[in-house]
Amino acid sequence: MNKMPEIFGSMVFNESVMQTRLPKEVYKAWKKTMSQNTPLELDAANVIANAMKDWATEKGATHFSHWFQPMTGVTAEKHDSFIVPAGDGKALMQFSGSSLVRGEPDASSFPSGGLRATFEARGYTVWDVTSYAFIKEGTLFIPTAFCSYSGEALDKKTPLLKSMEAINKQALRILRLFGNTSANAVLPMVGPEQEYFLIDKKICARRPDIVYSGRTLFGARPPKGQELDDHYYGSIKPRVAAYMKELEEELWRLGIYATTKHNEAAPAQHELAPIYAKANIATDHNQLTMDMMKNIADRHGLVCLLHEKPFAGVNGSGKHNNWSLATDKGANLLEPGETPHENAQFLLFLAAVIKAVDEYQDLLRCSCASAGNDHRLGASEAPPPIISIFLGDELGGILNAIEAKEEYENIEHHELETGATVLPNFLKDTTDRNRTSPFAFTGNKFEFRMLGSSFSIAGPNIAINTTVAESLRQFADELEKHPEFTPRVWKIIRRTLREHKRIIFNGDNYSAEWEQEAARRGLSSIPEAADAFSALVEPKVVELFTLHGVLTEGELHSRCDIHHENFCKTVNVEAYAMVELLKGAIIPAVLDYQRELADLINKKSEYNNSLEKYLLENISNLSAALLEDLLILEKNLAQKKSASHYSKKVIPAMAALRKTVDTLETLVAKKHWPLPSYGELLHSVR
Ligand code: ADP
Ligand code: MG
Repeated sequence: MNKMPEIFGSMVFNESVMQTRLPKEVYKAWKKTMSQNTPLELDAANVIANAMKDWATEKGATHFSHWFQPMTGVTAEKHDSFIVPAGDGKALMQFSGSSLVRGEPDASSFPSGGLRATFEARGYTVWDVTSYAFIKEGTLFIPTAFCSYSGEALDKKTPLLKSMEAINKQALRILRLFGNTSANAVLPMVGPEQEYFLIDKKICARRPDIVYSGRTLFGARPPKGQELDDHYYGSIKPRVAAYMKELEEELWRLGIYATTKHNEAAPAQHELAPIYAKANIATDHNQLTMDMMKNIADRHGLVCLLHEKPFAGVNGSGKHNNWSLATDKGANLLEPGETPHENAQFLLFLAAVIKAVDEYQDLLRCSCASAGNDHRLGASEAPPPIISIFLGDELGGILNAIEAKEEYENIEHHELETGATVLPNFLKDTTDRNRTSPFAFTGNKFEFRMLGSSFSIAGPNIAINTTVAESLRQFADELEKHPEFTPRVWKIIRRTLREHKRIIFNGDNYSAEWEQEAARRGLSSIPEAADAFSALVEPKVVELFTLHGVLTEGELHSRCDIHHENFCKTVNVEAYAMVELLKGAIIPAVLDYQRELADLINKKSEYNNSLEKYLLENISNLSAALLEDLLILEKNLAQKKSASHYSKKVIPAMAALRKTVDTLETLVAKKHWPLPSYGELLHSVR
């Protein structure tokens, strides 16, 4: 029997649960908070808290936890039980409105980028009324924002919510000018596609590099990688299928609409996509999804790797952030309709995105920058570190005609004819898909493809929402000032295209020619994350975020510092893991094998050109190179440590060392090599 309808959302304190469990006036107060952003009174919160506790305890929960998203990129939780002493040696279950609304975790151990001195440890978590509470492993989780004692955001949720308010405000102004009086809100909608690897747990445990850093720091190429293209969309192996099934069911229980799953390009690589939702809900859900992916893998004797580049030589993992704007009435503002060339409202919103992306290229690039993602961007498996927009032939043609003030002839949708009579013919899309663009228009939404797989999607969505809000603000200011509305709209569209068309590119973003062309167009290219973070504190960006009330200058500086710090720490861990692995396991193995070969040679010294001699010579040469590489790495590690030092000195030293070790792996006998091979890692899950 299909149990999906029954289990879906069963662990979520959602609207229908509230409707049945809350007194009418409290339910109404909650609804009002949801739709009109009004604060919720403590009386109502008390009632909701009690109903939540009853519901949660009926489902076996004993604890509650404020659940938040500090600047570490992962979520944080602090569990408290519902238990209070009843006076007679017994205990009661209790949960008050104030415990629901506000928590007070010690903030001193979370990154604050200098916003909070360690002696001011106090931090607050504040209930996000717009995101449902849920039960996971016996605990009631309450989604919250996280801020310092003086109110600065220490998390990713607060600015995300503020960016949603900013775009809501500006988009509504535009809609009103178009005569729309029915929409009460405009919401950014997001569907993140999540890529991941699944590796056998026992094999993984023998790879300290994966255990420490989430990726392999060494590993020679296996005989078979992804060259046969037989994994992408390939049939899903039973062990993986069982994992996916359980994952999907658990996500459904949490009210997450997990819907698409398939194998990805690399062996052992897969993808999961949910149905899109409001940006903040999509963000919460994606964090939860990543959590569940790891937990459930463990139950199946697997390890789920969310690192952007777990294996050299095969594709890494990304996250595609599908983004659109919808009214509370369900209209998608990026839907071109049947005759897009006449759809001024659609074209104005499209122009707003084009302007935003062109004007804030560096900020968008920065929102996808991390040590892990540096391995993917520009490596012909993900978009290059140059931001551009793909629109496709139809929209491109329309925009060209508008800019040139020419008549536009609607493209006819042709039938797809396969020639086989049993296959049905259907109307083709007007454009093919482009998989190489960092920011592609895909019919009625934009797909931002630069995100790394382990990312919180909050950062990139804060950037998109706020920059588009700024374009819309400028458009609305201009339109409100001029009496002749329609001609002014077309004027703005035309001007925006003229000024920002350099950002539009419909060709192959992976090609070398594009790099040159982009440079000619004056587009920015930032290959390394270490050089990307400072975009956050550019005067233009500070002005943008402060104007829209999304982040203060202080918060931006702190975020910039945190990014630098995270980058340094990540590379530092990797480098030390490399050194430890080398000295503790790889060098002893190489020496053992050398000794074995030397013994053989000693025994039969009459053979001059023997295999063992050939091997020993090669390995000795590589060992000498290895020593040199190791000393260079250690020297660089001992020096002053800025993100740029790590990027320009430590990472290249690690790469050189790795190259030597990977060649050694191909020469040293398997019985001596201390690490499971790429072949074992990538092809072990059946
Ligand atoms: P692809 O063919 O790009 O791999 P998928 O089906 O894997 O597409 O994922 C597409 C994602 O885009 C899904 O999460 C889907 O819900 C989301 N999506 C679809 N329409 C919209 C929209 N209007 N706004 C935001 N996201 C959307
Ligand atoms: Mg997909």
